[in-house]
Order: sequence, then structure tokens, then C-alpha cells
Amino acid sequence: MTTKKRYERPIIKRLESNMPNKFGSRTEFQPVTQLEDIAVKELIDAYGSPLFVISEKKIRKNFRAAKQAFETRYPKVQFAWSYKTNYLNAVCNVFHQEGSWAEVVSGFEYDKALRNGVDGSKIIFNGPDKSEADLKKAITNNSLIHIDHLDELYALQEIAKSTKQRPKVAIRVNMDTGVYPMWDRFGFNFENGQAWDALNKIMFTGTLELVGLHTHIGTFMLSPNAYAVAASKLAVLAQKVQQKYGHEIRYIDLGGGFASRNTLKGSYLPGIDTNPAIDDYAEAITSALINSEYRPKTPPMLILETGRALIDDAAWLLGTVIANKRLSDGKRTTIVDFGVNILFTSFWYDHRVSPAQPFTSYTEDTVMYGPLCMNIDVIRENISLPLLHKGDHLVVHTVGAYNMTQWMQFITLRPKVVMISPEGKISVIRNNEKLENLLDLEQVPPHLANFEL
Ligand SMILES: *Cc1c(COP(=O)(O)O)cnc(C)c1O
Repeated sequence: MTTKKRYERPIIKRLESNMPNKFGSRTEFQPVTQLEDIAVKELIDAYGSPLFVISEKKIRKNFRAAKQAFETRYPKVQFAWSYKTNYLNAVCNVFHQEGSWAEVVSGFEYDKALRNGVDGSKIIFNGPDKSEADLKKAITNNSLIHIDHLDELYALQEIAKSTKQRPKVAIRVNMDTGVYPMWDRFGFNFENGQAWDALNKIMFTGTLELVGLHTHIGTFMLSPNAYAVAASKLAVLAQKVQQKYGHEIRYIDLGGGFASRNTLKGSYLPGIDTNPAIDDYAEAITSALINSEYRPKTPPMLILETGRALIDDAAWLLGTVIANKRLSDGKRTTIVDFGVNILFTSFWYDHRVSPAQPFTSYTEDTVMYGPLCMNIDVIRENISLPLLHKGDHLVVHTVGAYNMTQWMQFITLRPKVVMISPEGKISVIRNNEKLENLLDLEQVPPHLANFEL
């Protein structure tokens, strides 16, 4: 095939002497033309641009690797899928098929898990905002309620008394794990005695059944040792409860927060090379537990609410170049058709972006803007890219966590999400929004119905 080569304006580039490798900071050497043997162009032609694409195979692979990392080191392990990380039903159900329980942080998420068919006793209910109706429903369904504050503890005791039920509860504990700023707004503090006080209040009144201890020390935690500290501190609490009350807790829940393979903004090296692997976290947590002084008759179940580390690299965002232009200082910019409204995590990460078609060898530092008419709509402040043309396609990597839940309808409508099955079958798992979907929720009072211009 002979296609005429496009002209590219020559550029003069300053050589950087302090780059991590001799090729400089060039991000991409190969285009990504296919995802799991399906052409990017084919996906965009069939389902539109932008488009989220999720790999079922990769989710299962990530899950099984994580499960194995923990199960080879500890006798009783249970994962609970963190709904807020990605609560598309198809995604949740892949995790449930793999054996994950559900971990939810609101009444809405709780109902979503129930509707997905998760048995109430396998739903962990976290979060600071559980209404009385939420609590009653959770108690009736035998769910695991993780108490966040004393007001909730008292509310639960009242409900328990008036309904003659015995809710299954754990407390959420926050603590100093050596990583700062400390997450101390959720749960009861370990160091100042709040957690111990809450446990005593539960054990003394006897209206609630203490089944577990929970912590979620933070998110995108780059230190496995922080988890070792957390596990040790929960084991101390478990031991104190055992000593004082002869009561054995059934599970220790270390929450989520393992880093995915993304690159945090401001990092020198890509996250894929530097972030700890699941095995590092598993080793830290399980060693801390088995080396602790806590020695129950039956070892407590170890629960993990891992979110982003299991889903982030199982999804991509495909998009299209709208235009190229130069800023007043001559810096190249590329405008793409996906903004921060659907790629929320571009506020935190330098997402890897690959052109989806062959390109020439010349690259230039570029600002990548989304399509919104808003100054904040920056996908990458600085990315080294070859010259892209209007209509070219792009693949954004590692977008599975927190985008398909935190995205917002703003200026543009949200795009389709498709999932590729292990056999290569493509299914739409969330349709694109249409104007009607929004108008369904709106009402115009009669006196505002008409106007003349
Ligand atoms: C958000 C959250 C998780 C999941 O966190 P990741 O960083 O996605 O792993 C787990 N547990 C609780 C209580 C959470 O709030």
C-alpha cells in the first residue's frame, strides 16, 4: 500500500540531560491499535467515541492473583468488592462470580448489591452516613454493619432494643500507621483509646453482637508496612477483647487502598515500575497477623475490601482528537473528546495515553485538553506525544477505578461502557446517556413553560 506521507512541521527540541533513560521522556514507542485482539478503530466505529472498555478476563486474572497471594499465606481469606470503586452491575457480578462479597458505603450502594443478588449476610456496610431506615434494613438482612461513630452505635442500640434483634457489628478503627496525613475522620481512634472505649460500650451493653474489627487506612497507599502496623493494632484490640470478655471476634478487615499501577501526579517514575505488588501487601498483612500475640481458638477470617488495585488496569478509555493548536507561547496542545468530567482520575494521575495508529518518530511536549469549555479540563499538563491529527484515536490506560462512579454529567453526556468477555464477545454494559434521560428528571412549572423571543 502506498499512501502519501503527511508533512510534519520540523521542531527544534532542547536535549534534557537529566532524564531517567537515554531516550528521554518519550512516553510511547508503539501505538496501541488493538485491545484483546479487537481493533480500537472497530470499537469506536461500533460504539462511539469516547468509549470505556473493560476486560472481564483481566478482572478475573487480577482477582485470582490477589486471592492466591493472600490464601497461600493465611488460612481464611474473604474479599468484598468495594462498590464505590466501580459499581456497574456487570463489573460487580464478575467479582461476585469469583466469590467476592459486597462492600458498600451508602444506602443506594446497599440496595444495588441486594438487587445484584448478594445475600444480605455477605454485605459489609461501611460509611459515616447510614440512615435509620438503612440500619433497620441491614439488621433485618443480617448484614455486617461497621460502626463509624458513637451516634451510630447509640442508634443501633436503640433499634436493637425496640426491635429485639441483635445486629452484627464491627467498629471501624483509625490509627497512626506512619503514613501522613493520617486518615482519622472515619471510625474510632486506636491511639487515644476511642476504639477501646467503643468496644467496651458494645461488650458491656450486650445488645449488639461484636463480630469484627475493621480499618481502611487510606487509599493508594504506597507502603505495605502501613498495613502491617494496621493489622498488628487490630490484633491488639482483638486480644484485649478476648482477655477481658472471653469473646472471639470472627474477622479482621483491613479495608482497601492498595495502589494500582497508575502514576500519581508528580512521580518521577511510572507507577507500573515502582508501586508495590499485591504480594508485598499480602506478606505485610499476614505476617503481622500470624506474628501477633492474639491467639484465638479459631483464626479470624481476614477480609479485604480491595478496590482500585483489582480493577484499574482492567479498563481503558478510547477517544478521538478534535483539534491541535498552539498556546500563545508556542506550546503544542491537543484537544480530545474526553474531559475531566468522565476521566475524573486525571486530577490525581498522569494517565498513560497511547496513540491508536502508527506515528512518526518525532515527539513534542504537549498539553492535552478535554472538550469542556472550562479551564480545569486538562487531561495531561505535559505529555510527550507524536503529532496527532484530527480524527486520530487514543487509548488511555488504567482507568477502571473511580471513573465510572465519580464521572459526572457536565456539558457532555456520558458515553457507553462495553465489556469484552474472555471469549472476545463485546457487550454494552452501560448505555450512553441521552437528552431524554436528563429531561425525565426535570420539571418546568407551568408559568415558565412558554416564552417569546
Ligand atoms: C473506598 C473504600 C475501599 C476501596 O478502596 P480502594 O482504594 O479502591 O482499594 C475499601 N473500603 C472502604 C471502607 C472504602 O471506603
